[in-house]
Amino acid sequence: MYLTDTHTHLFVKEFDTDRDEIINKAIQSGIKKMILPGINSSYIKIQNEISEKYPYNCFPAIGLHPSDVNNNFSDEINIIKNEIRTGKYIAVGEIGIDLYWDNTFINEQKTAFEQQIILAKQYNLPIIIHVRNAFSEVFEIIDKLNDSDLKGVFHSFTGNSEQAKKIISYNNFKIGINGIITYKNSGIDKIVSEIDLNHIVIETDSPYLSPVPKRGKRNESEHLLYIAKKICDLKQISLTELAEFTNKNAVEVFGTKLLL
Ligand SMILES: [Zn+2]
Repeated sequence: MYLTDTHTHLFVKEFDTDRDEIINKAIQSGIKKMILPGINSSYIKIQNEISEKYPYNCFPAIGLHPSDVNNNFSDEINIIKNEIRTGKYIAVGEIGIDLYWDNTFINEQKTAFEQQIILAKQYNLPIIIHVRNAFSEVFEIIDKLNDSDLKGVFHSFTGNSEQAKKIISYNNFKIGINGIITYKNSGIDKIVSEIDLNHIVIETDSPYLSPVPKRGKRNESEHLLYIAKKICDLKQISLTELAEFTNKNAVEVFGTKLLL
């Protein structure tokens, strides 16, 4: 039995002093597969160093995070276009729209999102979507660009039931559940109770959003166990059953590369 952390930023500076220890601890705890979504081009080198060191455990994705989109986003997209040809990447992401912190570059965010979806389609790769305060904007773009081949994850889901249903209606998209489900009054527990397990993948979003009882501390992939156990309690299933569902769902989106 093992679990897949579909969203973990193990390459950021928060892990510079103990990265190998953190990765090995996760693997030993049964978190054997970890997907490393990109943020911007400054992390490409270290993402690849990690995946070369842990080729069966750590899988990099490439993309420009919406909060890193500014006037120079085209330069970043060009770097991604060049780098993606290496075939090293399991997905395009994380990409999307974030209007929570800042909406100065809303038009640039939309353009960068569209361009990166088109790139994912060219390379037949899934997408990892980040959406915050921007469901209608994101849905509008997916409605326009979706086809029978496009696959992906709406990571760190914090929407309502209606938005969850909309994601499920796309057929090839999964809902990423993280530590937010363990937070009081988040409402995500109620939504997960309503959703069939075929639509869910699990993630930590390390080093952010640490689940209870580690809330407020640095998050790490080993903490995926708290998120998994919370879902097992809600769904009244065993950890093995949850692992089977969520691993199958992760492979449906990210492909058999994960089974290496
Ligand atoms: Zn992220």
